[in-house]
Order: sequence, then C-alpha cells, then structure tokens
Amino acid sequence: MAAKIVVLPESLSSKIAAGEVVERPASILKELLENALDAGATDITVELEKGGRGSIKVIDNGEGIESAEVPLAFERFATSKIYQFDDIYKVRSYGFRGEALPSIGAISRVEMVTRKESSLSGTRAIVEAGRLESITDTGCPVGTSVWVNHIFDPVPVRKKFLKTEATEQVYCMDVITRTAISHPEVRIRVVVHGREILNVPAAGDISERVSLVLGKDFIDHMLPVKGARGSMTIEGLASKPDFSRSSAKQLYYFVNKRFIRDYLLNHAVMTAYRRLIEAKKYPAAILFIDLPPGDVDVNVHPAKMEVRFRNPREIYDIVAETLVHALANIAPVSSGAKGRTMPEGYGERVREALKRYTVTSGSGKLFFNKTVTDYPKPGPAKEQIREKEQSQISPEEIRVEQETAGKGLKFTDLEYIGQFAGTYLVFSSSDGLTLVDQHAAHERVLFDKLKMETALRGEKIMSQRLLIPEVASLSPGEFAIITESMKILEDMGIEVEPFGEKTVILKSVPAMLSHVEPKELFFEILEELSNAERPLGLEERQEKIFALLACKGAVKANQKLSEAEVMRLCRDLDATQFSSTCPHGRPVYISFNLRDIERMFKRK
Ligand code: ADP
Ligand code: MG
Repeated sequence: MAAKIVVLPESLSSKIAAGEVVERPASILKELLENALDAGATDITVELEKGGRGSIKVIDNGEGIESAEVPLAFERFATSKIYQFDDIYKVRSYGFRGEALPSIGAISRVEMVTRKESSLSGTRAIVEAGRLESITDTGCPVGTSVWVNHIFDPVPVRKKFLKTEATEQVYCMDVITRTAISHPEVRIRVVVHGREILNVPAAGDISERVSLVLGKDFIDHMLPVKGARGSMTIEGLASKPDFSRSSAKQLYYFVNKRFIRDYLLNHAVMTAYRRLIEAKKYPAAILFIDLPPGDVDVNVHPAKMEVRFRNPREIYDIVAETLVHALANIAPVSSGAKGRTMPEGYGERVREALKRYTVTSGSGKLFFNKTVTDYPKPGPAKEQIREKEQSQISPEEIRVEQETAGKGLKFTDLEYIGQFAGTYLVFSSSDGLTLVDQHAAHERVLFDKLKMETALRGEKIMSQRLLIPEVASLSPGEFAIITESMKILEDMGIEVEPFGEKTVILKSVPAMLSHVEPKELFFEILEELSNAERPLGLEERQEKIFALLACKGAVKANQKLSEAEVMRLCRDLDATQFSSTCPHGRPVYISFNLRDIERMFKRK
C-alpha cells in the first residue's frame, strides 16, 4: 500500500461511525495490531507491562510511514485507506477512519519509530496528551514500532474503570489470540514483563496455528467445515459433539478476517448443535466468513466489533447448513471412552426408539425412562441416546432432528384440554398427549423475540418512560458495572443515567415489563451482572439481561390463562426456533406417545 495519508474532508468524516475506540488497554492493542496488519507486516512483536495498564508496545515489519506523513497519522480523520465515502464499502483493510492513533495519543504518551524501505533513515515521533512533542530522524529497521505508556494519565477518572492487571491482561491476550488465529501467515511474539509468553512462527494453515495458540487438545476436538453460497464462503473449524464449554467464549467469527460478535451467528451455530450437546453448553467454532465488502457494513460500531449484513437470513442459513453438514459427516466411531463399537443395527434401533419416544426435552434428557422396555442395551437411556447422537449421525437424521427439535410439535395443531396444577397446559393430538410448562414456554417465546428483535433487525427494545424516575444508590463496584453496561441497557429499553458519584437515575423500562416494579427489576439486572465470576463480554451481558427480562415478563406458575391466551402462546411457540427448552435449559414441553400410554396400561 503506497497510499498517502490524507485528512478526510468534513463531509466524509461526519458520516463515519466515530466513537470512543479506547475503552481499555486491550482496545489500544487491537488498534495497533490492526495497523500493523494493514501495513502488511509478517512479523509482529507485542510487549506488555502490567497487563497493558503500564505500557503496550507493538513492533511490526510492515511498510512504515513516510517521515513527512508521521504528524498526519496522529491527526483526527487522517488515513491512507479511504478517500471517498463509497470506499467504506470496498475496504479490505481494518482501519479507514483515521481515528485510532489520535484517540490513543490523546489519552497517553505515544512514541512511534518508523521507517520505509525506500528511506535511509527513520523517524521518531513523541505525542503526549494529544500534542506532538517532538519529531526527529533516527536509525531504525524497516517497519513501525508504537509504544504507548502513561495510559489514561491525562484522564485519571478513566483509570478507575480499569480492572486488575490480571484481568486487563486477559483482555489483551484475547485480542492477541484472535489476531493470531485469523493471521496464520504472520509470526507473532508476545513478551510480558520481559518474559516471552507466546512465539508462534508463520503457519501453513489455520489448524497448525490454532493448535499452537489454543492447544493440541483443542484442535483434536475440531472438525474442518467448509461451505459456500453465491459469492459468500465459510471455512474453519467446529467442535465435535463430545466437546463443550459452559460459555460462548470459544465461538470465534471472522467476517472478512475481522473478529466480530453476533447473536445471529451464535443462534445459527446453536441451531446446528441442538440435541448434540447439552442445554446450557456451547460448542467451540472458528468460522471465517468471507463475502464481498459491499455485503457487510463495518461502519456501525466504533470498535468495529459488530457488523451489519446486507442479507442476514442468508448468512444464518449458510452457517447453520455448513455446520450441520460437517457434523453429519462424522464417521461412525466406537463409543469413545469405553471403546465399545456399536452393534449392527444399533443406530437404526435407537432411531426407531427415538421416534416412538418423543418424551425428550430439548437437552436430550429422557423422561420416564423406566417404562422404556425395549432399549437396545441396559443402562441409562439418556446416555445411550447421547452416545448414538455423538457417533452415528446421518445427514438425513440431522435434518430430521433439526426439524423436530424446534418444530417437532406444531402447537397450534394440538387440541387444548385444560390447565393442570395451575402450571401445565395439557394438549392432546391423535397420537399422544403433551404437557407444556406455561412459564417456561412463555419465557422461551419472550427470550427469542427479544433476541431476534435486536439481532435480526438491529432494533432497540420498546421502552416505556417512567412517570417519576427512580433514584438508586450503588456501591462503587455496582456503579462501574452499570456505567459499563449503559449502552446495552439502553438498547434493551432500560434507560439509566449517572447522577453524581454513586447514584443513578432510572428513566425507562422495557414496555413489555411495565407491570414489574422498576427498581426491583433494575436491582435484579444489577445482581445478574455482578454475579459473574469473570468480566462479561457485551454479548454475554446482553444474554443474561434477555434471560432475566424474559423470566420477569413471562406468565408465572399458578396463573390462570384464558383459552385465547393459550392459543396465542401456541402460535408464538410455533414461530420460535428453540421451542423445546426455556432460556435456562428447562424443558418447555413433554410429550407422551399414545403407544407408550397404551403400554403403561398394559393394553399392548
Ligand atoms: P486508520 O487505520 O483508520 O487509517 P489510524 O489512526 O489507525 O487510522 O492510522 C492513521 C494512519 O497511520 C494509517 O492510515 C496509516 O497510513 C498510518 N499507520 C498507522 N500505523 C501504522 C503502521 N504500524 N505501519 C504503517 N502505517 C501506519
Ligand atoms: Mg487503524
């Protein structure tokens, strides 16, 4: 890239989704790494002091910057990557806003040393609290090194929001991990307090790199995945069903090599793994989605961690489809740990049994397994099914599972008989009996609605302003959590505003929860966010709040429902993707097959 750095005209810079990119040391590191990659570096060294709170240095062997252009690099909206607005829809580089270096320079002390191959000597520039302090010639290798220290010195309040060194270092390492995974061709070295903690040579492919970064054990549990549709391709790795994690942290999505977070993609992945892994567990996946830059808008989020797809539905389908295929192609294997091989016809029989016994919840749990008389082998039926699911999956079957998992029951086709124990809705059909837990069902419906609303359409949740705003006093820790989550809360219809040092004003709540006491709701959300054992990502925070809102908003047990309300719930259940479990993983419904009932009565 021999492009010159220019300051973008006002007319253009005002259209850029500018915003605070420097939230914490890890965000500085992310910007510096992206600049190094944009400069074509093949060798990058990162040095961290005090988890990045002390200082961050990134040294690259990229193309360097022309001496005369160095001061420009620190000017707002000065970039060498775009020249006109439409370029935003063509860029393949990480940067294009010309915002990172000036933002970083404004809150710290930056020392940049850089040289182009064509120049005999290099340039050293020092920027302190937004001011170019000095610029001198210097001898240095080709490439650029940027050393950022005194982070947040000019804005001491920002330091208060930083976590411990250890935590900030985890954030930094997350950034490095993502960079290393998406750029196997680049050698990456990380030095912490003078000690080398990572040194990965340029790798031939993703698997080689992933195995070095995330471990041999991790890669052993992964399957290659590959798919394409039109001009869109997807490639990467996804975990086998015998591997799961309790958080979605190991789901990595790279859209045109850019790491992003996305509900829609999470949803698509979870759809593919339905029934293959337990409820509340997540698979691991590293997915590279490549599509023409014009089909994805990266200009929607300051740190570019979220994107907007032109055709979200298509992305959803291709991701789910590709994973389903990869999972379906797992060769039949022996039953793992125990080393047993499945007897002839085992799969067929279990499949048969599965069809008859729809008494499973979404998590694959089998109810009333004691009445099951003809299971192929003694032992807990649940395990056998899981064994089978993990080892003998045919493509057809996965498709059937997909359909029956969420959509197995068409609730509107069932005949409503009545409410049992004030909690369970009883339905019959020509071939069985179904019990629906009204709270779990409604919770699932609300949860999916909330998620889809924000994920698919990028809409905010409808909020209702409080007639009299509520004032809540918080501990410093709680205050920090709320100020960190303010934007997410707002998107969810919960408007809070800091009011002094430790007080916030609650101004609105989600419209669907207008029947709940606002302050109680607020403190429950706060508790949910504070209870996390480790810092939560944006998306995890959102998920937690969604689940809470759904739970609070849902009809309770021992609440009488009118027939019209039951019908409405049935229609909603038919429209959701995941109707078989509630957001907490409890089953939404249990069905009894007519034949099983007859057998229980010894009629057959
Ligand atoms: P952006 O990346 O959005 O263009 P930045 O503020 O991150 O904005 O960087 C401004 C400009 O400085 C870049 O466009 C690029 O020309 C130059 N630059 C920054 N870092 C490097 C680097 N490590 N190597 C070469 N050029 C760099
Ligand atoms: Mg940049």
